[in-house]
Amino acid sequence: MKFRSTVGQAPMVGFCEALLQGIAPDGGLYVPEKFPSVDLTDFAGASTPAQVGAIMLAPFARGSELEASLPVICQEAFSFPIPLKSIPSDAGPLHVLELFHGPTAAFKDVGARFLAACFERLNGSERLPLMILVATSGDTGGAVAAAFHGRANTRVVVLFPKGLVSGRQEKQLCCWGDNVLSLRVNGNFDDCQRMVKQAFADAKFNQAVRLSSANSINLGRLLPQAVYYACASLNYWRATGEKLNFVIPTGNLGNGQACVWAKTMGFPIGKIVFATNENRPIPDYLETGNWAPGASVATLASAMDVGNPSNMERLRDLLPDVGKMRAAVSAYPVSDEDIRRQISRDEVARGETWCPHTATAAHVYDGFSETEKAQSWALVATAHPAKFETIVEPLVGHPVEIPDALARLLDLPTHVSDIEPVLEALIDAVK
Ligand SMILES: *Cc1c(COP(=O)(O)O)cnc(C)c1O
Repeated sequence: MKFRSTVGQAPMVGFCEALLQGIAPDGGLYVPEKFPSVDLTDFAGASTPAQVGAIMLAPFARGSELEASLPVICQEAFSFPIPLKSIPSDAGPLHVLELFHGPTAAFKDVGARFLAACFERLNGSERLPLMILVATSGDTGGAVAAAFHGRANTRVVVLFPKGLVSGRQEKQLCCWGDNVLSLRVNGNFDDCQRMVKQAFADAKFNQAVRLSSANSINLGRLLPQAVYYACASLNYWRATGEKLNFVIPTGNLGNGQACVWAKTMGFPIGKIVFATNENRPIPDYLETGNWAPGASVATLASAMDVGNPSNMERLRDLLPDVGKMRAAVSAYPVSDEDIRRQISRDEVARGETWCPHTATAAHVYDGFSETEKAQSWALVATAHPAKFETIVEPLVGHPVEIPDALARLLDLPTHVSDIEPVLEALIDAVK
């Protein structure tokens, strides 16, 4: 399959090239030339994300260098459970799709591990060494560093905003060393994202290394994320004959976009609802039809503090008419006050300890009408609450147990450099 840039000024590329480039040379984001439509009978016997992924992603990788390895790549990427867990509800069937059982306890592990598995196989001797540049609002950087740490011929540079990630997230970003360089930027996430974009556009910087991104603008992150929506909806539909509806905590609109893509391909997905924090360009756009990205606002759900969600460009490319977009998705903002209340309440009411991001989804669900709630819903749990213990523990009144994988990382020594939010500082740091 070929992929085109959303800007439309760059040549179409194949699967591997789209992954390696990250962003198209015209500044656009790669999207499939045409979405394949799936025949659900092709998935007979496939029920795990690795099995579903190998079949579902095959058309995208067809004709590429990675076509034959796709099943193994999927096994490497989906090496941990992604359960759809039923939880108590006084209305219709309610579930949590738990995406946080990977090495760094957030859903970013899926895309990062898929990309690392692909890049390892692509990084042949005739190519320049790869440098992966990642701007992170918290979870991406840790997942990417974990996925690439120790791999040959690949360097990872992680930029994160000083003081705007949780203590445990920061630890996960800075516990690597070796081929991972962690940079604490004196700015916010938007500064980090801008610096990465500038580095890509800087000819000199691009001479000696082959730059790639592992942000959710990279197609290699989005496609595997579509797999868990496909897999959960397929298994649910087989068991009940019902479509599964999703409420998805959303920031840069990568994870949410992936669900839209899975539905576009024909998986039995019903409604798609985005929950944002007080960074509200997406809900505002759906309400007014006016796209007005702004500076990001700091909230309790910090991994969603994105003022200018990059992936909106892809969603608008797919659904250029705001009326059609409204029919396909909806979005609601949630305040910090409501996040706090939801975490305290559901600890008791549902016996669930939410991370602040997941709490936005639970809050949005609770605001649905009885008719809506009578349908089958899944709240998407994007991170383990132990990553945000300083927010969660006072609200639930007890320590949150730390998953083993996370506990191991927290014990490692720290490697980090502080830099100013300008391209020159980034160039100096990587020299
Ligand atoms: C990244 C992240 C989000 C937002 O995901 P997007 O793909 O940027 O929309 C939500 N929750 C957590 C825990 C995250 O790490």
